[in-house]
Amino acid sequence: MTPTSDILIKMKKLVSILVPAYNEQEVLGLLFDRLDSLANTVPHYDFEFLFVNDGSRDHTLEMIKKRAKSDTRISYVNLSRNFGKETAMLAGFDYAKGDAMVIIDADLQDPPELIPEMITYWEEGYDDVFAKRRSRAGESQLKKMTSRLYYRILQNSTNIPIQVDTGDFRLLDRRCVDALKQFRESERYTKGMFSWIGFKKKEILYDRDPRAAGETKWNYGKLINLAIDGITSFTTAPLRISTYVGAVISLIAFVYIAYLVIRPLFGVPTVPGYSSLMAVILFMGGVQLLTIGIIGEYVARIFNETKHRPLYFVEEYHEASHKK
Ligand code: UDP
Ligand code: MG
Repeated sequence: MTPTSDILIKMKKLVSILVPAYNEQEVLGLLFDRLDSLANTVPHYDFEFLFVNDGSRDHTLEMIKKRAKSDTRISYVNLSRNFGKETAMLAGFDYAKGDAMVIIDADLQDPPELIPEMITYWEEGYDDVFAKRRSRAGESQLKKMTSRLYYRILQNSTNIPIQVDTGDFRLLDRRCVDALKQFRESERYTKGMFSWIGFKKKEILYDRDPRAAGETKWNYGKLINLAIDGITSFTTAPLRISTYVGAVISLIAFVYIAYLVIRPLFGVPTVPGYSSLMAVILFMGGVQLLTIGIIGEYVARIFNETKHRPLYFVEEYHEASHKK
């Protein structure tokens, strides 16, 4: 082997593919194959397939372990229980060894075939190449509508540009990964963090496929929780809104009281106003509950953060021996 070719081999860059996986036994077989053919299409790079098993209750871990015996590019982190995708991704950031890292869902909704294009842009100097959904096949009209509305609300309540219709499917340069690792908050909204860190961003478009197999781990309850986390961990605008609403209502109440006081002076007969009284009481009560609720959200957040708990525990880590 000539010295130059030796240097060339050493300089092959490593791309980590991070796959958070929770009960994904149905798709894993397919995923392994797709990742394998992906690696073959870009032979100038080394790959690490980093699986974070997020406390799966099916055979996900066994399948990964078995595959890792024959495929030396596979690393895995087995978390001690299910921590949720956001935390599973953080574990992935901590353990990824690559010069770049691609986050991809296990269910093949994000086509791995897009990764070579991401790598091309990365080589052009972009730090965060994110995939934007052109279509959302296999998702209900209601889900599309609510997600569109949600992005709009989130964008209007913060100064940091949020990428609409993008998930976590993206390539991140090492310096973005190192930046993201420093976010140790327990209430995580990773999508907001990608925007927050900045760096050079590039958008590419793709069609989102329906899930290849298995079932979605999300339901509307979880989605609503993520939505509230997104807003409250990212902006304090709702606190401001409640201040405004409170101010406007107080003003209206003040004018109304003044009217009630001067009304008898003009000879208007004063009837005991049971219904108007009830209306005001109920309305004010509602607004107060809402406001307390919003404040409570932030107080709960402060409470959780002040505990400074470790974010996850690792039951087992296996590192790929991909260097060969
Ligand atoms: N996931 C995870 N932990 C969880 C829930 C989901 O690691 O508690 C992973 C899951 O295995 C998948 C990705 O997060 O790789 C996205 O999950 P899913 O496809 O269920 O979400 P959707 O695409 O419906 O938003
Ligand atoms: Mg999915």
